[in-house]
Amino acid sequence: MATPAVEGVVVPALRAVLHRVRIAAERSGRRADDVRVVAVSKTKPLSLIDQLYAVGHRCFGENYVQEIIEKAPQLPEDIEWHFVGHLQSNKAKALLTAVPHLAMVQGVDTEKITSVFSGLMTIGMPDYTSTPENFKTLLNCRAEVCKALEITESQCELSMGMSGDFEQAIEMGSTSVRIGTTIFGPRDYSKK
Ligand SMILES: *Cc1c(COP(=O)(O)O)cnc(C)c1O
Repeated sequence: MATPAVEGVVVPALRAVLHRVRIAAERSGRRADDVRVVAVSKTKPLSLIDQLYAVGHRCFGENYVQEIIEKAPQLPEDIEWHFVGHLQSNKAKALLTAVPHLAMVQGVDTEKITSVFSGLMTIGMPDYTSTPENFKTLLNCRAEVCKALEITESQCELSMGMSGDFEQAIEMGSTSVRIGTTIFGPRDYSKK
């Protein structure tokens, strides 16, 4: 169970993020609706997810197969789940069984064609002060993939931007940002 002090802050934190997303989207001539905000709830308790759900947020992300398999069945069915971790093919069936409403898998083995259809994802530099270079690399990558598949770029999701760099990612064209720490606070891995 999370402490009440922690529970009180996730809703305003989400609102602040949504506001920053809108400003960044408008700065780059897009609408906030064009950018999905995935609240990455890994290591965080169900109670915090419930609080965001209660104010209307539906899009959540998890990073570990075991964790999403445990959490998703205990939460409302209309949550739009994103699996943002590394998915090994031998775990795929268990994932889909436990999370039938899985909206998207981001970050499966790059050599697999599935990654193309589920969108492209990048994680910024390890120190999270990411330069635009890796975002540019991903933009180029999407262009190549779309050309090869003969689809338009608007048909291909671009998932880039995390807590430390999401505004810049949006300005560079991201259609999906994955925000953990800025909404839920720092993660405590010692309990795991
Ligand atoms: C944990 C995680 C995030 C969220 O990172 P924050 O820096 O806490 O916003 C985003 N994407 C992936 C793939 C993650 O594992």
